[in-house]
Amino acid sequence: MTIKKYWDKASRFMAVRSDNPELLQAQYQSFARQMPMMYLILIANTWALAITHMAEAPIWLTMLIPTAFTVTAGTRIVFWWKVRNTYPSLEAAQAALKQTNRIAAILAITFSAWALSLFPYGDPYAQSHVAFYMAITVISCIFCLTHLRSAALLVTGIVNGTFVAFFSSVGQPVFIAISINVALVCVVMLVILMTNYRNFEKMIIGQQQTQALSKENLRLANLDSLTNLANRRAFFAHLPTSIEAAKENGTRLALGVMDLDGFKPVNDIYGHSVGDNLLIEVAARLSTLPPNYRLYRLGGDEFAIIVMEAAEDDLLVVNSNKLLERLLVPFILPEATVRISASMGIAVYPDIASTKEQLFDRADYALYHAKRNRRGAAVLFSAEHESRINDDSRIEQALKLANLADELSVVFQPIINIRTQRVLGFEALARWNNPILGQISPALFFPIAERAGLSGFLTEHLLRHALVVAKKWHNDIRLSFNLSVHDLNSHDGVLALVGIIKGSGFDARRLDLEITETAFMHDFEQMKQSIETLNLLGCGISLDDFGTGYSSLSRLHSLPLTKIKIDRSFVTDLHKKPASYKIVKSLLALGHDMELDCIIEGVETKEELAALEKLGGTIIQGFLFSPPMSEQDLEGFLSGNPPVFKGSSL
Ligand code: C2E
Ligand code: CA
Ligand code: CA
Repeated sequence: MTIKKYWDKASRFMAVRSDNPELLQAQYQSFARQMPMMYLILIANTWALAITHMAEAPIWLTMLIPTAFTVTAGTRIVFWWKVRNTYPSLEAAQAALKQTNRIAAILAITFSAWALSLFPYGDPYAQSHVAFYMAITVISCIFCLTHLRSAALLVTGIVNGTFVAFFSSVGQPVFIAISINVALVCVVMLVILMTNYRNFEKMIIGQQQTQALSKENLRLANLDSLTNLANRRAFFAHLPTSIEAAKENGTRLALGVMDLDGFKPVNDIYGHSVGDNLLIEVAARLSTLPPNYRLYRLGGDEFAIIVMEAAEDDLLVVNSNKLLERLLVPFILPEATVRISASMGIAVYPDIASTKEQLFDRADYALYHAKRNRRGAAVLFSAEHESRINDDSRIEQALKLANLADELSVVFQPIINIRTQRVLGFEALARWNNPILGQISPALFFPIAERAGLSGFLTEHLLRHALVVAKKWHNDIRLSFNLSVHDLNSHDGVLALVGIIKGSGFDARRLDLEITETAFMHDFEQMKQSIETLNLLGCGISLDDFGTGYSSLSRLHSLPLTKIKIDRSFVTDLHKKPASYKIVKSLLALGHDMELDCIIEGVETKEELAALEKLGGTIIQGFLFSPPMSEQDLEGFLSGNPPVFKGSSL
């Protein structure tokens, strides 16, 4: 190794490190606490030595120099005391530590010189004091300078070098012995200092690594492992802080909750790995966002977006719809090409919600609304929703308190074959007359009862009642009865229905159970099992509101369906709306191909009927023939035997 290399190594060893800012700052901090102590010891030791030499030595040595030193040391004490709890910048810490190195060297030289200049004035006792002073001072300094290796080495080198050189030269054996002792002790202390310094370095670096590791853990805990988006946990941590920030800055914050439409079928048909790939693709399409948008995956096919400084309502909805449109382009996955859409509910702070719970609940309500009424679009929670929530909760309360056995009744709407003009059967429809709220539509109270967990009771009560009525009918008239998703998503629920049907004495082969297409969006396999059980009993299964859902035909085909009911929305004014006309035409063709009877619902006018006849529709239900009738009205209606439709419109 050349001299230059040795020199470089030595200067690195003595340098104040700047490659690790945190180490430097930790050094600075420990140091700042120890420095005042070191200076206090130095002051005390210095004055002790000055006093023992006061009588003999000149005043500039015993008073002036100690005073000047005290002042210098005092300023350093004040400096270190002030900065003991501060976190300086890298540059400031480095400058302070370099400065300390310089001051340490100057002080070491000055003090060795000062102490040794007192030596000639004292008697042997006082001279021993000089030796003691230098030895003890250097040892204290090594202790206090542990965290700045360079300063400790400088001080030890200077003081000890002078000490050993001077006392060995005096020729007095006691002093020579003392200098050897001190030199040895200092070597040992320096070795200890090195070890401690290394340990200190290791500890700080270890801490840094632990911190980095826990930061990484925290990052992972907040990340969705599938899509790499921030996860639910991150969302619920960010939502309150984001609201807090919006509150402080007086800005609007929008929360969008998003749910994919048609994800479940993809998962069911193609399997989970395709579902997973689809979610990864969805996340990728959504993730290029303006800087004030933050995207999360809440779980399953549910996502959320927090928008800071949200635009005004109209623009917000436009932007959200644009975002949703990104998902309309088909997803080309290795296994299949998949088409989906997504619906979004949006709530804005502070306009519509003031707490995180309210914001989330309302965005979620708007999403529920979007799913039901405006699939594939973004819906902003509005004042109208608010009043609906209030109405809903009043209905829920009333449902819970009502004497349902008295307040519920069933009405029956005929289903007619227009070719034979015969009544084929009746659809049982629920009616609820509440003393406080009045008549409430089943379209309104059933969804609420489902959410409140009350629909099972309603179904059982209504089914029993409908079966009692239907038992009185001529035995070629069928009964149609509506079931809700909740009736079918548990094995026990289905068994209860089987019990009621069997116990009624009504021939199950005359019963059609109507299930809406949207029911199959939930748990297809469970639904399938439930209707298979009911089908085995002999019941027919009608697919209600056909055309409004998104079920794939191949899946519907795997169900034991016996009838489909074409939804009213396609029937209204079909003679004036070419799109509706075409839809009904193809639905009828589809029913024909699947060898299923098609019931056309909601026929209100002669024009609609004429158009339907032209399309080959034969089984009709609607106000044109008859509104739903009470049990009493039914008796007159059915008086003909066999019952024939006697309406004037045909
Ligand atoms: P749905 O099963 O599609 O029933 C047909 C609805 O259309 C009935 O409304 C019926 O009165 C109405 N309707 C029939 N013909 C016409 C027409 O020509 N024009 C118009 N505008 N409407 C017509 P309702 O009785 O208000 O029932 C609404 C919905 O509530 C039902 O739709 C069904 O989904 C649900 N629902 C009714 N009763 C029950 C029940 O006992 N159980 C379950 N789970 N749901 C029921
Ligand atoms: Ca129905
Ligand atoms: Ca229907």
